[in-house]
Amino acid sequence: MPYNEIYWQREEVIPKKELEELQLKRLKWIVRHAYDNVPFYHKKLKDSGIKPDDIKKRDDIVKLPFTTKEHLRENYPFGLFAVPKESLVRLHTSSGTSGKPKVVGYTAKDLENWTNMVARCLYMVGVRDYDVFQNMVNYAFFTGGLGFHDAAELIGAMVIPAGVGNTERQVQYMADFGTTVIHSTPSYALHVKEVAEELGLFDKLSLRIGCFGAEPWSKNTRKRLEDTFGIKAYDSYGLSEMNGPGVAFECPEQDGLHIWADHYFIEIVDPETGEQVSEGERGELVLTPLTKEALPLLRYKTGDITFIMDDECSCGRTHPKIHRILGRADDMIVVRGINVFPSQIEHVLMQIPEVGDHFLVVISRRGSLDEITVKVEMRDEVFTGELSDLQKIQQKVQRELQKELGLRTNVELVEKGTIERSKGKAKRVLDLRKDL
Ligand SMILES: [Zn+2]
Repeated sequence: MPYNEIYWQREEVIPKKELEELQLKRLKWIVRHAYDNVPFYHKKLKDSGIKPDDIKKRDDIVKLPFTTKEHLRENYPFGLFAVPKESLVRLHTSSGTSGKPKVVGYTAKDLENWTNMVARCLYMVGVRDYDVFQNMVNYAFFTGGLGFHDAAELIGAMVIPAGVGNTERQVQYMADFGTTVIHSTPSYALHVKEVAEELGLFDKLSLRIGCFGAEPWSKNTRKRLEDTFGIKAYDSYGLSEMNGPGVAFECPEQDGLHIWADHYFIEIVDPETGEQVSEGERGELVLTPLTKEALPLLRYKTGDITFIMDDECSCGRTHPKIHRILGRADDMIVVRGINVFPSQIEHVLMQIPEVGDHFLVVISRRGSLDEITVKVEMRDEVFTGELSDLQKIQQKVQRELQKELGLRTNVELVEKGTIERSKGKAKRVLDLRKDL
């Protein structure tokens, strides 16, 4: 049963002070739980000369060692679990690009907590018991399928476990069943639109809410999704190591994602040094689950770059907000002391109509100063125009990049086909400083 018409649970609006006290109490519990029941943590804490009793205040979390994806893989499959197998009721796995998959487990209580967190998210953006919820993500192994499925059912919505693929059938059902809410990746939703148009069913759809996650998407994509479908589109964040989806989610303000601080302790650290950054600064998101029985990962390095937004939210929720994920820690480049992500550059370039699909960021050093040059392929038609037009475009790109990055860049406009194409993941950055 919901707490009231606006909030799924009372915890969403508990006073900040109470929230912090709850965090400390739960932090103490999880450290003790990990120390007593996971040999890996017992040894790690002992080696660092730390006992669970040393955690006396919230700031003491920095005394704890980090946990990484590699630790999960090295302890495949159950090495970091804190409960015996008979206490587990569910397993999920996430495939990595290399090596062993990450395996995550849940007790019945973990599942209950998780489902409630995802339900908070869905209820927050307006999903109700009269909705028809079409869940268009992969159900196999991956947490996104069942995570949303269970939560939408808990709210009382009618759930269609659609999965991915069979797009024509999906669209037919959307029209026939009166689907009002979809959950998918942003790119799949755009594909659904094309198929719906081909089938002549687009006008028969009655969507009102879209929940999108699992791949990074920009503000511009949001606008496209909202305009196309006539929906409100919300950003979803989660990772299987922290249960799955429902770690953080946008509220109706669509300005940052509330992260559920009664279940997760949130830190932002410098990805290189591991030091906490100052308030509001961007860095790597580090999470410690505060209620997880099966898998109490301490200070887990997510690899996702974001920052904490400090303002209070007019939706009334007291949980902090993070900015939508800016990129992965592995992709970050540091230029003149400023962190830059290729995704930020992409975001700027894709708003400019004259710009083609390919670009390359070259970082070099002149004297002791880093130089950043962005080579941008233009659309063919641009080169038939006046030279002064080209200059105008070049200045526009430079100006927009400076606004986004807080950094002056050189911009070179080049003809289509100039930048080398790669077969796999596009190579966006050439860092020449490493050769010096
Ligand atoms: Zn809010």
